[in-house]
Amino acid sequence: MSSIKFERIKYIELNKCILDCPIDIKKGALLLDKQNNRVLLQLKLLNITDSKISSVFVNVDSFDDAYDHIQGINTVEHAFLDLALESRKTFGDTNPILMGNNVRNVEVNINKVVFESGEIWRSEGKDIYIKPVQRRLEKLDIDMLDFLKHESQNAGYDFDQILYKPIELDNLWLCSCGRPNDNLNSTCARCNIDKNWVFRYTDEKMQAQSVIEFVSNKKRLIEEAELVRNEELKVQDEARIKENQNSIRIRKRRKSATLISILLLVSLGAFAIFYIKPNQDYQKAIKLNETGDYLDAMKVFEELGDFKDSKKMLLELGMQIEYNAAISNYAAGNYNTAIKQLEKLSGYKDSQEILQKAFFEYAKDLYEKKFFVEAREYFNKVDDTNNTDIYLNSLYYKLEGKWKLKTMTGNSVVDGWESRFTLRENGRLDDKRGINFESKWDDADFQFSSPSSSDSSERVRYKIVKADPRPGGELVLIWLSNGIRNDWELVYDYISN
Ligand SMILES: [Zn+2]
Repeated sequence: MSSIKFERIKYIELNKCILDCPIDIKKGALLLDKQNNRVLLQLKLLNITDSKISSVFVNVDSFDDAYDHIQGINTVEHAFLDLALESRKTFGDTNPILMGNNVRNVEVNINKVVFESGEIWRSEGKDIYIKPVQRRLEKLDIDMLDFLKHESQNAGYDFDQILYKPIELDNLWLCSCGRPNDNLNSTCARCNIDKNWVFRYTDEKMQAQSVIEFVSNKKRLIEEAELVRNEELKVQDEARIKENQNSIRIRKRRKSATLISILLLVSLGAFAIFYIKPNQDYQKAIKLNETGDYLDAMKVFEELGDFKDSKKMLLELGMQIEYNAAISNYAAGNYNTAIKQLEKLSGYKDSQEILQKAFFEYAKDLYEKKFFVEAREYFNKVDDTNNTDIYLNSLYYKLEGKWKLKTMTGNSVVDGWESRFTLRENGRLDDKRGINFESKWDDADFQFSSPSSSDSSERVRYKIVKADPRPGGELVLIWLSNGIRNDWELVYDYISN
């Protein structure tokens, strides 16, 4: 099993939205799958309504580094289906969307949201709100940030989501998480923070006094702790002096005990550095993994290097993301992509089973599009021939081979009129009668058209009604829609394959 490695190219700037959209794009990142040199888009989407959502359709416009459109890459349409998504729940980050290799910037638009009730929200005709730039809070004074962190934890808010200075506008307010909210809403649709709270606690002027108090309080607490520690040390010293007054033998023993305790302290320090901190990080990563924040979890596991089974977890997460992408592609009918992904998963979970299904579905797709050569390649990969026989034994495939014309309605046949039919890649059919005629498949079953002769642009349509490619077998074609020769029958003898 080879290792799969993802690198975050960048977080996506989410400065555009439709205010009444039932879905909030909480986070977005472009990832580079270093092994396969592919670019994936990961989105974390949140249901901000009170109703259950069944599907979400997004459009993704791709750009290169310079924010120029990339030639040949159109808008990627992606559907998240069968979500059964409850209110305030997130999804999407386990199903990355495959993008073009050169894509370095994207614009994500939510197109359509379908509720379980059957109600549909559409973006069509709605105003797109473009958010002004917000000042990041990390530029605040360190004491102020410290204070904010302390207060947000007390209030039960996620400090990691308090990123920007909130802004009050005419009809809306921009939350500290970056989300624009209608002024009618007193809590943020994304992070649930209280509007009054966030404006109050991020206002430098108003909070100046509180911050000073907070800082002096913190200083006092530190000083108090120091006093307590000094007191303890003093007591220990006194005890040691008392001990010193005891016999040499006891002193010697005590000395070695002190040495041991110093050694113990040193190793405890090492324990803290080499175990406690990584272990906390490890637990954090496990938690991130459980809540579906796979990317963040991967980042922590990567930093942990060889600690515990971090490497294994990193690999497992990589596989999980790849697996989810494959499943999502399979469900969306992107069988070719799903196959490539599933083949790399070498039996991870039920990937082998789904790979077989993908082979079959992809082959059927190609067959329906009349790409018979490609279809056969994939039908042959399906283990269960019961499913594939009906296709592989169809007249399309039986037509292949060398045939000699025996009889033709209303005409005598010149001996030596031979045809070789060859299915070609890209949905073509060659009909070689001395020279090659490139024939085209018709939409109708078993029908194709060929030029009537080498110097004619007139095309003649045929229908295969019988094909038996065995010694003594016959091929019967009906000559369709060609003036008076309509419905003439051509009968061939089988010569060879
Ligand atoms: Zn918010």
